[in-house]
Amino acid sequence: MTMLDIREGVCPLCGHNKIIASAAIDMSPKRHAQYGRQAHLAEAVTYEFDAKDDVVLDAFGRIFRYTCQSCGFVQSFASQPQEIPIDKEKYFTWLIEGPAPVGPYR
Ligand SMILES: [Zn+2]
Repeated sequence: MTMLDIREGVCPLCGHNKIIASAAIDMSPKRHAQYGRQAHLAEAVTYEFDAKDDVVLDAFGRIFRYTCQSCGFVQSFASQPQEIPIDKEKYFTWLIEGPAPVGPYR
């Protein structure tokens, strides 16, 4: 079974061939209150902060959304997932490792 990748321009749900791609922007009131103009950062999996000034220095795994223009189905993908740092203390990220793949996808 192969699932269609919405990033290639076809909706996996209804088959429509027009997909709206967009960068997810984090405009939450909390972020705005905390960071002012920097509130308009692209939403990401995790961020690097300057501990002293509590400013965002970098973002890892920026999130892009893909929306079917016909049925509205939405899927999100993080960019460059291999570069997202894994560190529960510093980045609040951790890995969940499933069992080794079996079958034809090994
Ligand atoms: Zn659709």
